[in-house]
Formats: sequence, C-alpha cells, structure tokens
Amino acid sequence: MARLVVVGTDTDAGKTTFSSLWLAAFPETTYFKPLETGVSDTATIQARVPHARIVSPVHHFDKPIAPTLAALRAGVTLPHAQELLLFHTPLRIADLLIETFGSPCSPLNDDELQIEYIAIAGPVVLVTPSTVGAIGRSVALLRVLRSALVDVRAVVLMGPPDDYSQKTIARHGGIAVFNVPIPTTWDAAGFAECATAHRPTLLQIHALLVPPEPEATDLVQRDATVVWHPYTSLRGTHPPLPVTSAHGAYLGHPVGSERLLTVDAVSSWWTILHGHREPRLMQALAEAMNRVDHVMFGGMTHPYAVEVAERLLQTAPWSGGRVFFSDNGSTAVEVALKMAYQYWAHRAEPQRTLFIGFENAYHGDTFGAMAIGRDPLFFGTFEPLLFRAKQVPVSPEALDAVLQKHAHETAAIIIEPLVQGAGGMQMHAPATLHALRAVARKHGVLFIADEVMTCCRTGRFWASEGTAPDLLCAAKTLAGGVLPLAVTLASPEIVAAFDTADRAKTFFHGHSFTAHPLACAVAAENLRLLAEGTWLAESARINDYWQTIAEELRGRPNVKEVRITGTIIAIEVHAAGGYLASIGHAMREAALTKNVLLRPLGNVLYAMPPLCSSERVLTMIRDAFHTALERVA
Ligand code: PMP
Repeated sequence: MARLVVVGTDTDAGKTTFSSLWLAAFPETTYFKPLETGVSDTATIQARVPHARIVSPVHHFDKPIAPTLAALRAGVTLPHAQELLLFHTPLRIADLLIETFGSPCSPLNDDELQIEYIAIAGPVVLVTPSTVGAIGRSVALLRVLRSALVDVRAVVLMGPPDDYSQKTIARHGGIAVFNVPIPTTWDAAGFAECATAHRPTLLQIHALLVPPEPEATDLVQRDATVVWHPYTSLRGTHPPLPVTSAHGAYLGHPVGSERLLTVDAVSSWWTILHGHREPRLMQALAEAMNRVDHVMFGGMTHPYAVEVAERLLQTAPWSGGRVFFSDNGSTAVEVALKMAYQYWAHRAEPQRTLFIGFENAYHGDTFGAMAIGRDPLFFGTFEPLLFRAKQVPVSPEALDAVLQKHAHETAAIIIEPLVQGAGGMQMHAPATLHALRAVARKHGVLFIADEVMTCCRTGRFWASEGTAPDLLCAAKTLAGGVLPLAVTLASPEIVAAFDTADRAKTFFHGHSFTAHPLACAVAAENLRLLAEGTWLAESARINDYWQTIAEELRGRPNVKEVRITGTIIAIEVHAAGGYLASIGHAMREAALTKNVLLRPLGNVLYAMPPLCSSERVLTMIRDAFHTALERVA
C-alpha cells in the first residue's frame, strides 16, 4: 500500500514516463492527475498501460497553457489546495499515484501555487531528466519543497545512468536518489518490458513510500492504556479522534481511519489563529531552529523575546509598561494576580487580599485561576484550598454594589472582555465593558483583562480596546497557536511600583521555559503578520458570514439564542444539564459526520475557526450546525 505524489523539476521532466512505469510495475495502483492541459496525460497513460486503474482529472483544458490561464479563459474557478484534496482527490484509494503538472511553483489557482497541494497530498517522488544540470535542478527543488514542509522521499533521474549526479544529489540533498532509464519503445510493450527490467529499483522506491503512521484503531487502543487526557474522565466512553497532520483549517487523520480530513472549527482549543501550519510562521520556526533551541530567560535575553515585547507594547493602551513572559494562559493569569497583589503590598496596602471575578468566568486551572474562576463543577473539590474571591454578574451596578462595601480590601477585578469563553461563550457589549472599567476606576481597584481567549478573536487585536486595563494577559494565539507562549503586560504604574533598588521587592516568578526562543520567534513573525493588517479583513469576512446565517439558526425551534462577536458564533440550545450534558457529545458526533470538529460547551454549540477558513469551510460548519441541531431535536 503506497500513495505518492509525482512532482517534476519542471514541465517535461519525465513525470508521465515515471508514472507509466510505476503503473506497469504496480497494477494495483490508481492514477490521478487532477489538472491537465494540452495532450491528456491521463489518455497517454491509458494507451501505455492498458490495464491501469484511472480516476479522471478534475479539469482538462485543451490548449497547452498554464491551467490557471486556461481556467480564466474558460471561466472556470479552480479549487483551493485543501478543497482539491478533500473533495476531489480519491484518498480512500490506498494505492494512489497523483501526478502534478508543471513544477511545484506553477500556480494552482489565483491565490496559491501547486506546492500548497503537494504539501498536503502525500509523500513526494521528485523526477528530473538525467541530463546536464540535474544536480542543480534537483537540489534547488529539494530546498523549495522542504521549505514548504513537503515530505520528499526520493529523487528519480529519468534517463541514462549518471552515477556522479546520483551520488552528488544524495549528498547535498540528504535523500535517496535513483536512476530509472526510459523505455526503448513508447508503447505498452516498451513500458511493460522497462518496468520488469527495473522492478528492483521501483521496489526500493516503493519501500520508501509505505506509510509509517500507525493505523487509527491501533493508536486509539494504545492511547487508552497509557494516556490521561485533559478534562476527560478515565472512564471515557468516547475515544479520542486520532490526528496525524494539520494544515490550514483542516486536521488530517491516520491512514485507515473513518475520516480523512476534518475542519478544526474550534481552532484547537482556540489557539490556531491564521490556520494550521501557516507558512510564514513555520518558516520563522524553521529559521530559528537553525540558530537556537532553548536558553533560560533568567539573566539572559534573545532577539525574539525583545521583538515580541516591543511589538506587543506598541499595541498596548499605554506608553511604557513591560511584558512578562510565561508559557500558558493560566500562568499568564497567575502572574497578573500575583503582580496585582504585590503592587498593593509595595504600596503598603497588604490588606487588599480580595479579588473579584464574574459569574461564568474561566481563567485557567492553576490555584489562583481556580480561585477567581471558581467553577463548582471543575474546581469545587478544591474549594477548601482556594483563596477568597467574589463572583459578581457581568453588570456595572452589581460590581459597584460589591465595591461599595469591599473596595478597601480589593486588589483587582478580572474579566474576559466581550466574550466569556469556557463559561459558554457569554457575550457582553463594549459599552458594558467600559462601564465596568469605569466602576473599577471609581473605586481605585486594579482592572485585569484576561485576553487569553479573546486576543485577535473579536474583530480587534485586544477585546478590551479603549478600557486601558492595568494588566493584560495573552496566550493561546500569541505564537499563532503553533507553540505555547504567554505574556502578562503590566502598565507603567504597576511597573513603577516594582522599580526599586530593594531586592526583596523583586517579582519572584519564572519558569524553566519562560519566553522559549522558538515560540518567541514564531510570535514575532505572527505579530509582524498581524501588523500588516490583512487579518482584520479575514476576521470581518468570517463575522459577515456568521451574520448571514444567524437568522436561519435563530429560526430553529430548539435554539434559545445565537450570539456573535468577531469570528465567534455561539448557539445556545434549549436543554438542561450544563457542561456534562450528554447533548454536547451528541452534537459533536453529529457534526463529525459532516467532517467538522465542534466541541460544544454543554448546551452551547459554537465555532471559532481559524482566519484562513474559506467560504467552503464556513459552509461546512454551517451544515454541521444544522446537523447537530437536528440531532438535538
Ligand atoms: N483564560 C481564559 C479566558 C481561557 O479561556 C483559558 C483557557 N481556555 C485560560 C485562561 C487558561 O489558559 P491555558 O489553558 O493555556 O492555561
């Protein structure tokens, strides 16, 4: 069983010749060339290998010109790479040869080069003519392919044996290189004879293509005996979804599983911002990996962290201030709480031991975060260990009433601005947030914005824009969701309270992996990308789409409320039972039948897809919502 993508260093590199020999040697293999122009390679294959199994091309254009130009003239829209893979490529066929056109950098459609498809379609065999220049062509193409994270397994020199080129490409390319001669006659007999004569070589290439991934069920069974999953009962009756790859809005599943690709409509616990393996972020990671791995951040620094801090402070509501690094959302919150309390301690007000949070809030699961979130289901067991904190409704009046009594003993209030995520995507208007901020200011208590979930999700960089919080926390999307990284931004006033020669007043906090250089390198590129501003249009596009489907969802009998902020849509369903309600799982399963991963929060169905989600992806999510809601009915 082997899937391979045949890629040429250029047009006429010998792709179809190689493919014909492969099909002659391995009759169980199916041939598929998604896009072709001019003389049909699919027809050529049919003539050369009469028994070959063939899947017709998605598009054939008669003129021998670039597919994008041919499509333009014919008024045809060519599919995007992910759509070509998910909807047109016969991936269920285990032995599949996919022949590409032109070179990897030939345009696939108006937005993408063919390399985007190659990167997700499967392991690659790179074919080049065995003529002068083969070394330079192959090594250059290998670099291009690898920079796009293409999984290249072998290089094939088509034509006369060339031992020197073979060895030199292998050395500089770090790859297995084979020589495959061309047939003596270009008919069926010639190909059959050549395939038989060079079967040992073809078998060696075949061996390099056999999928190394474990079968899906095997993986799930092994997992079940050794892994303890987050927020999951050990008596879990729902096996985890095995994932072995991710690209754009999609998750890829192992060979042999029920599904091939699933839309990651929850951006992998709200982390993935642009899309999985966003090329610029992966490139930044690859470049940083060539320079550094990890270095401690106590008493040392690196350019990646400094750039992240500089760029973040440019987005901050005040000038000045500092960035404190950590590595997850809970810790970013923990840092904010400790800074807030220590700030008051330095100002000779150590009696300010009270924190105020809001009903339905979630701030993480370390002890401080549990104390202020205080979810009875998640953290009730720890109640005896949690410090004092109050939960008030998200209402300026309610906050004011509590602060009337408790302001003198309160260190800070903490809020998830505009959207309370884990508490069921509860949303409030910017005006409410501004009013809450004003109440905090009136009573002289610190205001902490926990933007771990909201940063870049609400149609603006900070959801708390315009409220100038004293402390800001970010994590999930900071490095585009690629690597764990978190920050707590402290206002100049907070910083000033710690700016003293008294060493005892140091902020004693830090972890082994604080400001991990690789995560910071990715975050720096993410912040550069965001500064270019195009993400705002993507965010607005997703918001527009949600607005257009809101009414039809509201019209369904079992829907209680539809809420939208930025790229987030939440559908609250009439059902009892909270987070553990079985309805959540039923809705998830229903959505999976539509190839969409949703993770309802009890009776709240929601989506928060990556910014790259195309109209087609959004339509799949919409269909999945309807299917899930039908299940509830
Ligand atoms: N704050 C908020 C608002 C969150 O949504 C979360 C996680 N969902 C956290 C903090 C905790 O982040 P982490 O899971 O990275 O510790």
